[in-house]
Amino acid sequence: MKRDRNVKIVATLGPASNDYEMIRALHEAGADVFRLNMSHGDHEEIRARHEIIRKVEDDLKSPIAILADLQGPKLRVGVFASDDGEDLEVGQSFRLDLDDAPGTKDRVQLPHKEIFDALEPGAHLLVNDGKIKLKVKDCGRDFADCEVVVGGTISNRKGVNVPDVVLPLAALSEKDRKDLEFVCELGVDWLALSFVQRPADVDEARKLAKGRAAILSKIEKPAAVKAFDDILAVSDGIMVARGDLGVELPVQNVPPIQKQLIRKSRAAAKPVIVATQMLESMIESPMPTRAEVSDVATAIYEGTDAIMLSAESAAGDFPIEAVTTMNNVAVEVEQDPTYTDIIEASRKTSGKTVADGIVAAAREIAETSDVKAICCYSQSGTTALLTSRERPRVPIIVLSSDANTTRRLSLSWGTNCVESVVVVDRFKTAVIEAVRAAVGTGLATKDDMVVVTAGVPFNTPGSTNILRVAPCDESLIFAGSSE
Ligand code: PGA
Ligand code: MN
Repeated sequence: MKRDRNVKIVATLGPASNDYEMIRALHEAGADVFRLNMSHGDHEEIRARHEIIRKVEDDLKSPIAILADLQGPKLRVGVFASDDGEDLEVGQSFRLDLDDAPGTKDRVQLPHKEIFDALEPGAHLLVNDGKIKLKVKDCGRDFADCEVVVGGTISNRKGVNVPDVVLPLAALSEKDRKDLEFVCELGVDWLALSFVQRPADVDEARKLAKGRAAILSKIEKPAAVKAFDDILAVSDGIMVARGDLGVELPVQNVPPIQKQLIRKSRAAAKPVIVATQMLESMIESPMPTRAEVSDVATAIYEGTDAIMLSAESAAGDFPIEAVTTMNNVAVEVEQDPTYTDIIEASRKTSGKTVADGIVAAAREIAETSDVKAICCYSQSGTTALLTSRERPRVPIIVLSSDANTTRRLSLSWGTNCVESVVVVDRFKTAVIEAVRAAVGTGLATKDDMVVVTAGVPFNTPGSTNILRVAPCDESLIFAGSSE
């Protein structure tokens, strides 16, 4: 689907976006990637949504990335004797333990044994999205006696965050493992891991995914922010998961972290998503607030690959309006000369490989001459990722005969992905395919020039070593690939 912007839009599906008409309309309005949230919806619902997305993709001949978001080790308290829960007051004592007896004003179960082993006096526990704050005074193998620092109502199965401590929790719960196998079998392109704490968490998921999906780490714990460089090194993509991050850390820390994570991910040529509360008020209103529009714009100015909708598209009253708003903001920001200045000033060309040189040259040629697009013939996607990192001023056309590559790349900044039916084994064929795609997508017309990059030998990841400037002339467009 041809867009008038480079940044990508991820839309979460849910009860408000379940059927073919809505999912197709969301894609047409601008959603490039659909997110299936494994915290909600059973396997049959997920299967139905997946099937519809693939049908839309086939009907519109437009590659769509599907991102399955695994719930991860979300901690919850047990239940209370009273359905309304209890009001905790500042200064009072409150005990967490392993006893499954219904909770009272003095105690409740926290059914995660591993936590008690990791807690230390002085650590904080946040309950119910951070609304209640407890400080550990004393703890043992099966209890923690806390002081209530910020009070409020605590009730059945409210979530608990433990920001100060690296928890000895498996990154993938039993449910996550089942979900992972289920979605990999269905055929998703990206797996998002919640509450990643260390690089080993990513390795574990990668082992189970066995190449069937790329791995995206959600950065939503202070431990993940600290270990970010190492987590980035083993991940294929990153999500700045501002919802939980803003609970685990003071909210004012989130914007600088967002900036740093975007820069580092881009330098590593890995896609990064800015997520959560981008257009929160549009869950109930057809108009966003000015502050939300500004937040979306800021993420784009910072050079993010993608911006995300959660409840706005999954459960809100205005899913299409939310996607359209993001699209309109992106179009406007990207036309601002300040945007180009910022994006170019923040380019990091740290890599020293031949591939780094080729993609930088492709961008420079596109800047200094009248070239309409950069076409990357990229079987594995590596060249396309490096080209995207350059953030060139002309569109990037990604060509691959591997549908998994074109789908995965749909998350990256500036890519126009085209699945090629020809398996290319000669550079000339790559050029012909590139020219056809450039004209076919409408990004170039007859006699325009395009830059074509590829790697020989073909089908060897990271082998990018050829660059050619080619005219989109008819003899090439209509030439048989055997020439
Ligand atoms: P979630 O992740 O929506 O799965 O919680 C995103 C976030 O925490 O921001
Ligand atoms: Mn989260």
